[in-house]
Amino acid sequence: MLKQIKGLHHVTSMAANAQENSDFFTKTLGLRRVKKTVNFDAPEVYHLYYGDEAGTPGSVMTYFPFPHIAASRAGAGEVGETYFAVEKGTLGFWKDRLTGLKVGGLSETEVFGEKRLRFAGPDRDAFSLIEVDGDVRKGWEAAGVGTDEAIKGFHGASLRLRDAGATRELLGFMGYEQVDSKDAWERFAIPGGNGAAVIDIETVPQADFARQGAGSVHHIAFAVEDRAAQLEVRKALMDTGYQVTPVIDRDYFWAIYFRTPGGVLFEIATNEPGFDRDEDSAHLGEALKLPSRYEPYRDQISGLLQPIVD
Ligand code: ZN
Repeated sequence: MLKQIKGLHHVTSMAANAQENSDFFTKTLGLRRVKKTVNFDAPEVYHLYYGDEAGTPGSVMTYFPFPHIAASRAGAGEVGETYFAVEKGTLGFWKDRLTGLKVGGLSETEVFGEKRLRFAGPDRDAFSLIEVDGDVRKGWEAAGVGTDEAIKGFHGASLRLRDAGATRELLGFMGYEQVDSKDAWERFAIPGGNGAAVIDIETVPQADFARQGAGSVHHIAFAVEDRAAQLEVRKALMDTGYQVTPVIDRDYFWAIYFRTPGGVLFEIATNEPGFDRDEDSAHLGEALKLPSRYEPYRDQISGLLQPIVD
């Protein structure tokens, strides 16, 4: 069993509109935009990153806004819901705030003993705010959202699968332990993880497969400390039979990707070097940053992107 993985690093989803996306995550949820760059594989599309002050791994929600993308259809073989952690006693604040801002899909529930407020993102993305006891991570203070109420980072995510078997085994191999189960739901966690260390599996044997589009999670990334740990994980996964990509430089972390048996794309990402690699930490996310290979084409690329007004 692997010991290098500490929980989530980031969650990457697709959106239809960059401006709406940026407004929602910064102004409605009060996260900090920690990077404004492009999709390294399709530079005519933004890659927007939102998180805590530094973009600490385990807090980073990222988006590819594709202007003409079709809406998604939820189903099996994908991330079902992304969970954000907030302080105990703050869901009332969030319910009032999100209601006032006309956020859709609001419902309150309690799952595995945790109070949860479900809400929908701008493309009907499935999110929850979950009250977590003893989470010491500090959120970003934004207009209307103080440090007491701020989102601390991810709590975790759920996977919606037709069959849990092989993914349950994989999570166990990655260092997750099953800590609870109820009806169609199983909960896994990494002891001593980074705060974003919960994965739930919801088993839905009869469900149609999801159709990816705006509002779908494209992949979830798990955090390892550094490149040495990443290479150990890569080798162990390959020895177990997984097809894993080579290490890819994403400027702010190194990434490897592999498709899991249930259909969800997993990534393993390094905590190094971080989002202050190419801009001052006081101004993260303000300027358009490009990887060096696209820098010569900055004017053409900027011309293809809709400017984002903050
Ligand atoms: Zn990623």
